[in-house]
Amino acid sequence: MTPHTRACILSTGDELITGQLQDTNMRWLASELTIMGISVVQCATVPDDLETLTATMLRLTTCAPLLIVSGGLGPTEGDLTRHALAEAMSDQLVTDDAAQRWLDEFLRSRGRNWNALQARQTLRPSRARMLPNAVGTAPGLHGVVGEGVLGCDVFCLPGPPNELSAMWRASVLPALRPPADQTVRTRLLHVIGIGEADLASKLGPMMARTRLPLIGVTASQGVLTLRLRYAGPGSRLDADAAIDADVAALSAQLGDNILGDGSLSTSELMIAALGRAGKTLAVAESCTGGLLGAMLTQVPGSSTSFSGGLIVYSNGLKTALAGVPSELIAEHGAVSSQVAAALASGARERTAASYALAITGIAGPDGGSVAKPVGTVYIGLAGGATEPEVRHFRFSGTREDVRARAAGSALGMLHFELRQTNPRPKLLWQQGDAQTAAC
Ligand code: AMP
Ligand code: MG
Repeated sequence: MTPHTRACILSTGDELITGQLQDTNMRWLASELTIMGISVVQCATVPDDLETLTATMLRLTTCAPLLIVSGGLGPTEGDLTRHALAEAMSDQLVTDDAAQRWLDEFLRSRGRNWNALQARQTLRPSRARMLPNAVGTAPGLHGVVGEGVLGCDVFCLPGPPNELSAMWRASVLPALRPPADQTVRTRLLHVIGIGEADLASKLGPMMARTRLPLIGVTASQGVLTLRLRYAGPGSRLDADAAIDADVAALSAQLGDNILGDGSLSTSELMIAALGRAGKTLAVAESCTGGLLGAMLTQVPGSSTSFSGGLIVYSNGLKTALAGVPSELIAEHGAVSSQVAAALASGARERTAASYALAITGIAGPDGGSVAKPVGTVYIGLAGGATEPEVRHFRFSGTREDVRARAAGSALGMLHFELRQTNPRPKLLWQQGDAQTAAC
């Protein structure tokens, strides 16, 4: 039988194609397949339309020996995956007696009545088999489209993510034939304080597309993530050794710009780094309104390193809670390097934490001026060897982006402080150099 070296993914749903719902199943399936060494060669999303669904299904079965379909297995008129599979297999739908009995029993045990529409969920192409659903009412399907070496295994899974993943584990994984002569290992590394283009030119031939391990980069909210992927011959140990050698080479090249393990979030990395240093952190947040504190407290066990913080949205609370002199606010404005420094110092003094990060800025969409446009944010860090360090940023994007980027950049500042990196590398969106400000 042909090994499943390559795969396609097909998602169906009007809610996906209209942008109402994010296709998280595709992302999850792609990552599961990739981890197993099965290359995903095409992903498609189609509406609940029989003609489009069937045509796309047929096309994808010619691209790879494995196709995973998500959605369209419910009881309504809009659930057309089983009909499309029957057409793609040039087959007819028949009632599956076992599925009928199972569904009867399932509904009875939950005190629910049989609905005529549910009969749809007991149908399968005559040459396909049903995959039991341990979590919901829609059975999955497995059929083969095409013959011999051209045959493609099609697995149709229900749309609800919990049902899809349970069926994947119970019925699809055991039936897969991943390539036997290939080992696939992936490692991720977060990098900050360097732009994507600068990173690519610094790494030069290490980023060649023909290289093994293959190194790719993605950028999100000011953090670059390097993906080192070994997909080739040899054992798992060989693959890990090749990736280890690359990580060592990258560390030598990028030094403190490496934030850490890319499978962890920036907050997880910073909580761990604070723990290793035996230090604690507090925050004073104006325009982020507690976002930074929320990101940090999402990390289990963060209480050992995160002391807490102040949400000081109004000028009055900046003075009352963080001790920022009202004259300082009157003179420089609440969004200023002086106030960011005073907020950081005040929060550190009042919480007795080793470090305090303070954020003050204009998240928008209103409130900007020529001198301080929307996206202007000052971030202060107190607790270092010198006076508070302050950086001035001009973030782009929506209110949500500005707030997320501000919170992420604050953690980036903490990273370079904990590493004692000098001179401090500039972060993305930063204006000018880091300043130290007496307050
Ligand atoms: P279906 O199996 O098409 O009836 O889908 C049932 C429900 O699963 C939908 O209403 C969505 O809430 C969810 N769903 C379907 N497809 C996806 C997908 N690709 N990603 C995430 N959720 C989905
Ligand atoms: Mg649907």
